[in-house]
Amino acid sequence: MAGILFIISAPSGSGKSTLVSELRQLVEGLEFSVSYTTRLPRGSETDGREYHFIARERFEQMMADDAFLEWAEVFGNYYGTAKSALHLAAEHHRDLLLDIDVQGAMQVIGRMPEAVSIFIMPPSPAVLEKRLRNRSVAEHMTDEAVIERRLQQARGELAYLHSYRYAIVNDVLEPAVAEMRAIVLTARHGDASLQALAAQCETGHGSVRLRRALESFAAVGQAKSL
Ligand code: ADP
Ligand code: 5GP
Repeated sequence: MAGILFIISAPSGSGKSTLVSELRQLVEGLEFSVSYTTRLPRGSETDGREYHFIARERFEQMMADDAFLEWAEVFGNYYGTAKSALHLAAEHHRDLLLDIDVQGAMQVIGRMPEAVSIFIMPPSPAVLEKRLRNRSVAEHMTDEAVIERRLQQARGELAYLHSYRYAIVNDVLEPAVAEMRAIVLTARHGDASLQALAAQCETGHGSVRLRRALESFAAVGQAKSL
């Protein structure tokens, strides 16, 4: 594709949707890939806006037709990025942002190593739990088993962090948004101050904030290898 491909992943509840929606207000020319999913819409979600909500049979047909750039099963449902999203963004001369899970991200990074990959890191398990809880209360869907499963899943997902080029610790929202903007604009040849901010977010840079966040998840081995 002609534009830049951005991949964003995060453990559920880290604040990825919040960050992405802030980013889209600050940065022009970003196309957002609307994924296909077999899960049901939540709250005010609308078909064709957040996702294309489709039946399992139709998803399986699209797999058979090789219509997906990547797909994965997440929390018992299928999610996939249609290849047509890439074509559409290229036609419109826009950069494309994929909000996908770690399994899908590994597929895309393998196929398109030039993609700019960003992992959104929750600052600690306690904060992640609080955010998951707050959101579930807001959506009237509190289920202890779901929260516990998501926390467990988060630990597993952290193992993929080093396959991403950048990591943003989403502690306070405003600086996290500024970092995300700096990464996007740097990929588009931003100025030196933006480049410096983006460089601090490189997973290879091993910032103190990232190390602390990883340590708080008891991922001490990973934190040491930074
Ligand atoms: P995700 O898309 O990663 O699952 P959300 O964007 O839905 O996560 O965020 C989960 C919850 O955490 C939401 O209630 C959101 O308002 C809140 N949240 C997100 N980022 C922050 C932040 N930096 N500080 C405090 N709360 C946040
Ligand atoms: P949710 O159901 O909370 O919207 O999303 C659950 C997870 O599925 C999130 O981690 C989200 O990034 C991921 N996801 C959404 N769309 C896709 C997709 O097209 N492909 C893959 N692999 N994951 C996706």
